[in-house]
Amino acid sequence: MHELSIAESVVRIASRQADGRCVTKVQMKVGHLRQVVPSALTFGFGLLAEGTSVEGAELVMEQVPAEGRCRSCGVESRLDGFPLRCLACGGLDLEILKGEELMVESLELEEA
Ligand SMILES: [Zn+2]
Repeated sequence: MHELSIAESVVRIASRQADGRCVTKVQMKVGHLRQVVPSALTFGFGLLAEGTSVEGAELVMEQVPAEGRCRSCGVESRLDGFPLRCLACGGLDLEILKGEELMVESLELEEA
């Protein structure tokens, strides 16, 4: 399961950055093109965080919509479905501008 390996990286990154302190909240950005199922990621995160300094932390996901610029006509489109297609000319040759994000943006740590 794709989400489980993402959850594993998130827990690893968060616990490394927390450096022994307790993490209460993890904020991340998830691009639309990553096709992450939020409930599956939250579930995996809870499971893998057990026994680490990230245990019990809230996982907040900010969804980033996908956008691309058409290489044929230059129009920028919001990309909602697959295949990714220019909304102006129907072209399939797009430069992806947004939507591939997958990163931990910030952590909230317990006060010492
Ligand atoms: Zn186009």
